[in-house]
Amino acid sequence: MQFKDVIGQETIKQKLIDSVNTGRIHHAQLFLGDSGHGSLALALAYAQYINCENRTQNDSCGECGNCQKMYKLIHPDVHFSFPIVATKKKAEDQDPNTDFYTQWRTYMQETAYPAYREWITKIGKENQQGNIPVAEARSIIRKLSLKSYQGGYKVLIMWLPEFLGIEGNVLLKVLEEPTPKTIFLLVAEDESKILNTILSRCQILRIPRIKEDQLATALEKVIHAEPEKAQQAASLAEGSFRRALDIFHSGEDNYFEQFSDWMRSCFRFDTAALLTWANSIAGMGRENIKNFLIYSLGVFRDSLLIKQGVENLATLRGDQLIWAREKFAPNISEDGVIKIVGEINEAHYHIERNSNPKIVMFDLSLTVGKNIR
Ligand SMILES: [Zn+2]
Repeated sequence: MQFKDVIGQETIKQKLIDSVNTGRIHHAQLFLGDSGHGSLALALAYAQYINCENRTQNDSCGECGNCQKMYKLIHPDVHFSFPIVATKKKAEDQDPNTDFYTQWRTYMQETAYPAYREWITKIGKENQQGNIPVAEARSIIRKLSLKSYQGGYKVLIMWLPEFLGIEGNVLLKVLEEPTPKTIFLLVAEDESKILNTILSRCQILRIPRIKEDQLATALEKVIHAEPEKAQQAASLAEGSFRRALDIFHSGEDNYFEQFSDWMRSCFRFDTAALLTWANSIAGMGRENIKNFLIYSLGVFRDSLLIKQGVENLATLRGDQLIWAREKFAPNISEDGVIKIVGEINEAHYHIERNSNPKIVMFDLSLTVGKNIR
């Protein structure tokens, strides 16, 4: 991956490029931010830049042998580590991630903006927990103690070091005193879940949200989205390309239909209908439910603004806007909506943390039903 293929993030790119050109590459760097913001994509582009044979002031060449190997993720000096699910093989297995490597490579070629749940579902079952086993940590140490094949830098890219258990501490020694020309790039989303001992040895690079207009442009370029739809998905995506894609593909129209059904039952406070609705929405899968909740937040926010006479709205367009102006906004309570928005955020939090979606969505429906008028 070249820097030019990473969406936005100009400041971070420049920082990384400067570190190479001034010869100040920190040996342990933590890229911290949602994978949808491009933290892994940046790490990939950085590793490619570091080892490129013909790099320019701004980017890797994309053509040399090293770049080609990076594209195929078969560079002998660039290793990957990522959460896997438990298999029947024994814990003392020498190289547990090898079994998953082909799937990892396929996944990375689909997207450099991965999502943890999606990855785990690809290699196991949705509700399984990911883990980076101690055998993998040992295997990393082994790989990095070898001489570099190409004479350049050896790089380890670890996606989601949050999943290293306490045994991950076996890595401390190499993090502290790495062999020369060895770089650790840890790509994490949640600082609070990383072993402190590891965190304290890394230089932290915070990866911010992608700007909305850059997200919209990326959707137009990558999946040929129409400008208006691209803009709408971008406005809901909270700076995540990943989320923008999900929202785009799952189709706003579909969310709108579910949302208006939901609101009909909430206004009537029809608990039987709400239960049926919660069960059906729970079947959409976690990522989709989260996106639906973000969409709902957008509709509530816009409807509140409509009530206050604001013209420039972020989420609602076309028929949905007409519906909100004529039918929805006039009937909702401002105080109620403020409470509802808090509850939707809360529900999003719980869905992310694996709570039972049927219960979360039904409870949320009761609160909405009580407060909407
Ligand atoms: Zn190159």
